[in-house]
Amino acid sequence: MAAAKKARAKARPTNGARVAAGWDAAPTEVLRARDGFDLASLDRSSTPGFSGGKAAGRALVAQHADELSDLQERLFAEGRTGGSRSVLLVLQGMDTAGKGGIVRHVVGLVDPQGVAHRSFGVPTAQELRHHFLWRVRRELPRPGYIGVFDRSHYEDVLVARVRELVEPAVLDRRYDEINRFEAKAVASGTTVVKVALVVSYEEQRARLAERLERPDKHWKYDPSDVDSRALWPAYQDAYQVMLDRTSTDTAPWHVVPADRKWFARLAVSELLLDALRRLDLGWPAAGFDVEEEKRRLAAT
Ligand code: AMP
Ligand code: MG
Repeated sequence: MAAAKKARAKARPTNGARVAAGWDAAPTEVLRARDGFDLASLDRSSTPGFSGGKAAGRALVAQHADELSDLQERLFAEGRTGGSRSVLLVLQGMDTAGKGGIVRHVVGLVDPQGVAHRSFGVPTAQELRHHFLWRVRRELPRPGYIGVFDRSHYEDVLVARVRELVEPAVLDRRYDEINRFEAKAVASGTTVVKVALVVSYEEQRARLAERLERPDKHWKYDPSDVDSRALWPAYQDAYQVMLDRTSTDTAPWHVVPADRKWFARLAVSELLLDALRRLDLGWPAAGFDVEEEKRRLAAT
């Protein structure tokens, strides 16, 4: 116990960021995409900041359930009583990166009534008639909610870049538009937690192969996934540019190696927990006279 505490104190980064229990370094720090971050050199089967292994990692996620739930309920209560704050978890990643698993295993730890989950697919004809942020802006979480974007406005600089869906000048402008859009969301009370789940080329093949092998997974398989896979290097470049241009101080990117599902889930649970903890959420004061209500109730 004392030794573990000492080890954690030693691992504490000099900037004072909180080192989460069981971690060697603060997940928010060690996973953050800072200037000069190089995606190509990321080992996608690594577990940055965590040396505990799978069983310990899974146990830690389970341990977070109560706190996540409690904080989510406080946020929801705040939203119900005039608060303006919310949290938005943006999940990006190639096919099979595990976005759905994060939603099930991490976001699923809290009351679904307080979660606004949205997935973004190929834009509809109506959506295409609008600015690319139109469909996203209307899905920003309302006060009190944890919004989850399974894919997002970032598709408009990822698939759009790789498949050249727009003119280069239009694409180039989008990065700044996204930064302004997110800064505005943050200014109006939404904490934006951006997570890029990064699988390796080999692991993606294994996961797609499993989808083909198992009849219960055929529904998840999309023949177009193989077409995207054929454009792997271009996608990696597009992700690198995205990280370079949109990992801001107000809405930084976190890059999570995703070949080990248990690690990705642990990492995202820590990032979400950190965002909620930073809100320093209390419970709203009663909008009525509690003693008076007790008396009234007693009289019935
Ligand atoms: P899935 O998440 O597996 O349901 O796949 C959704 C598909 O929609 C992916 O192939 C995305 O690349 C695609 N998609 C999402 N947003 C956009 C967008 N803005 N423009 C073009 N394709 C998109
Ligand atoms: Mg898919």
